[in-house]
Amino acid sequence: MTLNRRAFLGTAAAAAGTLAAPAVLANGQKKGRVVVIGGGAGGATAARYLAKDSKGALDVTLVEPSRDYYTCFFSNLVIGGVKELASIRHSYGTLAAAYGVNVIHDWAIEVDRANKTVSLAGGSKLAYDKLVIAPGIDFVDGAVEGWSVAAQNKMPHAYKAGSQTELLRAQILAMPEGGTFAMVAPPNPYRCPPGPYERISMVAHLLKQVNPTAKILVADPKPKFSKMALFQEGWNTHYEGMVDWVGPDFGGDKVSVNPDSMTLTIDGEENKVDVCNVIPAMKAGRIAEIAGVTEGNWAPVNAKDMSSKIDGDVHILGDAAAQGDMPKSGFAANSQAKVAAMAIRGALTGSKVFPAKFSNTCWSLIDTDDGVKVGATYKATDEKIAKVDGFISKTGESSAVRAQNFKESEGWYAGITKDMFG
Ligand SMILES: Cc1cc2nc3c(=O)[nH]c(=O)nc-3n(C[C@H](O)[C@H](O)[C@H](O)COP(=O)(O)OP(=O)(O)OC[C@H]3O[C@@H](n4cnc5c(N)ncnc54)[C@H](O)[C@@H]3O)c2cc1C
Repeated sequence: MTLNRRAFLGTAAAAAGTLAAPAVLANGQKKGRVVVIGGGAGGATAARYLAKDSKGALDVTLVEPSRDYYTCFFSNLVIGGVKELASIRHSYGTLAAAYGVNVIHDWAIEVDRANKTVSLAGGSKLAYDKLVIAPGIDFVDGAVEGWSVAAQNKMPHAYKAGSQTELLRAQILAMPEGGTFAMVAPPNPYRCPPGPYERISMVAHLLKQVNPTAKILVADPKPKFSKMALFQEGWNTHYEGMVDWVGPDFGGDKVSVNPDSMTLTIDGEENKVDVCNVIPAMKAGRIAEIAGVTEGNWAPVNAKDMSSKIDGDVHILGDAAAQGDMPKSGFAANSQAKVAAMAIRGALTGSKVFPAKFSNTCWSLIDTDDGVKVGATYKATDEKIAKVDGFISKTGESSAVRAQNFKESEGWYAGITKDMFG
């Protein structure tokens, strides 16, 4: 028997329909609808995997206000002049064109979980069967005395990449000779544990070339930080005498800033500075709070599928989630997104769901070709995402090993951005 194309497509569609018939969609609805809020490391990955693996059996809508996504990963390297800003910019075109994701550039402003709808700032309302919330972070109001988001142009955080990254780099380049760059580091937990310290390294790298008598002053509320021994070794090796790190023993936890006078006060002592990079305490992106899925600053989830502990039809990914042992990183968000996408597809199409596995590696660049890394694998327990085993670079490693680490991080960057955006 020969089948013409139309008959073949009809048969195939009917077969797919039968195989995919999900228990959840009993009321005549043909396709499961998934709305993803936030097109970052978590949301873009989830949207791509949902669309790609369901092969048209799901309606996937991605809501993201920005047309261009600038990765925070490698944004410190842009500040240091090691990478160009354009190299960390990505668009959503391939997700729409090649994977059939319905990309809407708008803000989600309300979630009605009882009626399963998401309202957008532009006025539309989206219905969902499963909702993914991956909005990244917002800052805790009043976390640094004297600072608010209104001051972010005078004292940038550069903890969301793009114009803030450009601004901070421009401010550093405009510093007077021998001037002071200051950072207010955040308390735990926060996005990218090594991020502030990789930034210190990249700022030092830049200043060493353009303003070698400049100084870096860091006020830190934490007594220790990620890869501390590695960073401190690197600062001594490459930037001797340039970095003054003030921990809580010396008042690093008692700071205030004045954006008008460009001062940073540490434990009562006022410092006039030229650039002040304020990275305040963080919380889940505001829409998670609006959706009513947060407890305190973060959104608790079940480790096996990243579903909310408050609403099983809502999955929360990435930085916004309180999930257990994983750091708030792009690698982690990407890893969690694949677990959630598989679970959602299973629930809506009946496809097989395998046990959740997670992994993470965070590379940091200390100076040209001097890269260090920390990483771990994780499993889902009833209580949380639990660390299984891990590794970290050692102090005193050879320059060949460090150069190889940096190369590896470039390979990872190419891989993860392809995994997110196609
Ligand atoms: C300086 C720096 C360096 C870093 N380096 C690394 C690194 O080397 N490796 C690594 O793995 N991680 C790194 N990270 C961390 C990484 O960037 C984050 O952990 C990761 O982006 C988190 O992914 P996410 O999906 O939770 O949030 P994001 O990637 O921030 O995505 C959230 C998205 O949601 C959108 N959004 C927010 N609210 C709404 C709303 N109401 N409606 C619609 N959309 C909304 C935002 O516009 C944004 O695009 C770094 C971070 C920083 C700041």
